[in-house]
Amino acid sequence: MSEEQKTFRRAGVLGWPIEHSKSPVIHNYWLEKYGIEGSYEKIAVQPDMLEDGFRHLVKKGYAGWNLTIPHKEAALPLMDSLDPAAERIGAVNTVVVGEDGKLKGYNTDGYGFLKNLESAQPDWNAKSTTALVLGAGGAARAAVDALAQKDVPQIYIMARNVKKAEKLAEELATEKSRISARAWGEDPELFEQVTLLVNATPLGMEGNTDTPDLTIIRHLPKETAVVYDLVYTPLETDLLERAKKRGLKTVTGIGMLAHQAVPGFSYWFGQRPEVTEELLDLLTA
Ligand code: NAP
Repeated sequence: MSEEQKTFRRAGVLGWPIEHSKSPVIHNYWLEKYGIEGSYEKIAVQPDMLEDGFRHLVKKGYAGWNLTIPHKEAALPLMDSLDPAAERIGAVNTVVVGEDGKLKGYNTDGYGFLKNLESAQPDWNAKSTTALVLGAGGAARAAVDALAQKDVPQIYIMARNVKKAEKLAEELATEKSRISARAWGEDPELFEQVTLLVNATPLGMEGNTDTPDLTIIRHLPKETAVVYDLVYTPLETDLLERAKKRGLKTVTGIGMLAHQAVPGFSYWFGQRPEVTEELLDLLTA
């Protein structure tokens, strides 16, 4: 590695397509804020070129990179080692290149999910929570894992593909966290117990024509329930609007995106960055 490569640190985000990624906004904001010499770029890599792409970046002296759709699962076998969250979740979103050129894969989505929840709702108490996560895809997996690792005693996963929810429940349950799968549909008896509702489906997202089922909101316990939507375009989804109208506490999804970037930036650029209101405003501008 040249002297220039040692002081000027490079990172980026790999995806296919990649134009939509907001990660450069986050990392370039922090690079500027902390006066760090470095760069963070969007890098388009076709799925069948992933291994070659990694090799090329290591050769060029990259400190690491993020992975987005469709590379998160495919990267798993290409890592030399994995952090426990990546192993449990079965997907890598952050790669760090070691001094020896070896690749370590991390998954920081669950971390981002939790940090955002804790900073938006500082009084939230994991141990007294009954959670209901809607959806059983990648984001749901990260959210359920983060909640289970926090010892949330009961987590329900509701999905239209109940087999997927069952698999998730089986893989992520811990001694202290029971996880149960439920078929998609009205279940007022369950909804009345839920103190944390998480939408981890694309329902309510701009451009998504399926209509979210908002009736769930009226069954949640008014004094204690928190409604957290991972969808962040729009920032205030119909689900959150409805929850607010009923006087429930709400959490938007944009902070998850910002917080999941913190560990990667720290590893690559040697500075633990802060998620500021200014950054969140930039991301929603
Ligand atoms: P994914 O892997 O495709 O999973 C989507 C899940 O939603 C699947 O379980 C899918 O069911 C379900 N679903 C889709 N349409 C549905 C419908 N009409 N009714 C019921 N269930 C439906 O996607 P993902 O990566 O988990 O992302 C999910 C959402 O979270 C996206 O909107 C994404 O923008 C958001 N997200 C936000 C962040 C953040 O930082 N805030 C991070 C990641 C994701 P099937 O399996 O049956 O298709």
